[in-house]
Amino acid sequence: MQFTQIDSFNIFSRYTRLTRKTRRDGGEFCGMCPFCQQGTDRFLCWPYRERPGYLCRVCNQSGDVIHYIMEMESLSFRAACDELGIDLDEWQNGKFSHASYKPRTPTIPSETWQKRAIEFAKRCKDILWQPEYSQAMAYLTEQRCLTSETIDRFGLGYNPQPDHMEPGALWGLEESVFVPQGFVIPWQFEGNLWRLKIRRPKGSRSKYHDLEGSFEGLYLADGLNKAGDILIVESEFDALCVAQEAGALITPLATGGTDGGQTPDYISLLSRPLRFGGVLLARSVASVLQVCPLVS
Ligand SMILES: [Zn+2]
Repeated sequence: MQFTQIDSFNIFSRYTRLTRKTRRDGGEFCGMCPFCQQGTDRFLCWPYRERPGYLCRVCNQSGDVIHYIMEMESLSFRAACDELGIDLDEWQNGKFSHASYKPRTPTIPSETWQKRAIEFAKRCKDILWQPEYSQAMAYLTEQRCLTSETIDRFGLGYNPQPDHMEPGALWGLEESVFVPQGFVIPWQFEGNLWRLKIRRPKGSRSKYHDLEGSFEGLYLADGLNKAGDILIVESEFDALCVAQEAGALITPLATGGTDGGQTPDYISLLSRPLRFGGVLLARSVASVLQVCPLVS
């Protein structure tokens, strides 16, 4: 079984009407984005590529055809594979053909982008501390168990403005920028702001959104300068919990997604602390408590 045996065109077409844009990669198609419902040609997909995929130029949703069906139907990976007729055994044994991992090269966002992003993050940080947004603050302190000191130290903020588009020029970009409502998580590394991630309110189609122009990396990577054990988790909030509760014992990092942080620079950064201590991987803090006696 191969990706080419899946009728990806039909899968993508289930949720939006596609028109052919170019002949690139066996056919590049566009339509209204089924995630953010914006535009008529900002959602792109390539059903005939070696690994069929999609990308929305407005809301940044992207992935392969498995991810697409998972998101659209709220399915687990296993259920999505079932739906597409992919044999999980073949998949796990590597017999299922797919494009191999390709390292992505990160670039520091432009000065214009960083200036705008820093202003936005600062404004949202101030808002979070205002009494009228005490509910947003309560979410972080009560549900995420973060102290006000942690929230302040790591610059978390809240954007109460409803989802909207901003002209790209304001951010030094050609594409317009989709700015959703939600918690703002700034990713800093070596004095630069690399990424602004927004945790959207419950009920949004995608839980997290990277502002256009953000680059991936590892969250809290500045901590890599410290010696000692490292704990890698997926979510930024989990990493902050570890920093808050066990920062003196262990250095937390977050990938910000299941395939985040796979850039050569960050992988080589990770090899640095390996000389001092170990690296633990965890999907959530709950599983960390089982594998890491230091934290429990
Ligand atoms: Zn979209």
